[in-house]
Amino acid sequence: MKKVYNIAIDGPAGAGKSTIARSVAERLHFVYVDTGAMYRAMALYFLRNGIPSSDEAAISRAAEEVNVTIAYKNGEQQVLLNGENVSGLIRTGEVSAMASATSVYLPVRKKLVELQKKLAEKENVIMDGRDIGTCVLPDADLKIYLTASSKVRARRRFGQLRNSGTEYTLEDIEKDIIERDNRDMNREVSPLKQAEDAVFVDSSSMTARQVEEQIVELFKQKKERGEK
Ligand code: C5P
Repeated sequence: MKKVYNIAIDGPAGAGKSTIARSVAERLHFVYVDTGAMYRAMALYFLRNGIPSSDEAAISRAAEEVNVTIAYKNGEQQVLLNGENVSGLIRTGEVSAMASATSVYLPVRKKLVELQKKLAEKENVIMDGRDIGTCVLPDADLKIYLTASSKVRARRRFGQLRNSGTEYTLEDIEKDIIERDNRDMNREVSPLKQAEDAVFVDSSSMTARQVEEQIVELFKQKKERGEK
């Protein structure tokens, strides 16, 4: 059977994981899997059905019923919620908050982790999230823990949102990022942490291009050495 390569990128909100994972995927001809989009699609379902994030039993039941899958169109990932492409509806503050609050529950994670593992079995993937190196792909060929200071991450997010006319201030964004990080790092199930064998990359004073180069280089070295 052909060897399938997996790259895992984990890190806190706004570290640049998706931008970098997408460009590394293009360079290496890998499939990019954005796992955050899956938690967001589920969160949208809970919001649409008026299920409060505090109601663990109802969230758990709903997580079992709902069907989240992904598809690719022109190389871009689309996330499908019960067959509907919701990719354009999951980047709001409301969905971010709901995804962060409901990703703490085991039934939500179990369902999505299963799907993520299956995707990585068949193809060369670069997957980003919070628990990829520690839980979803523990045998990944390369693991990166990508971070930056909360100030830098907030500034980057603010820059992206300003173009869409956000009402949030830089301080609001930094506060939200810190809150989400705390929740992700301190939850009981698969908290965000650096895998023991992950390479730590602090992108605070690096450009996206430099981080991309470093990851491609690390992957090539690993592949040449044929080591895991
Ligand atoms: O990465 P993104 O900000 O889109 O993720 C949305 C939320 O989904 C995160 O705040 C996090 O709580 C959750 N998440 C997770 N595990 C992943 C990916 C995302 O818990 N692998």
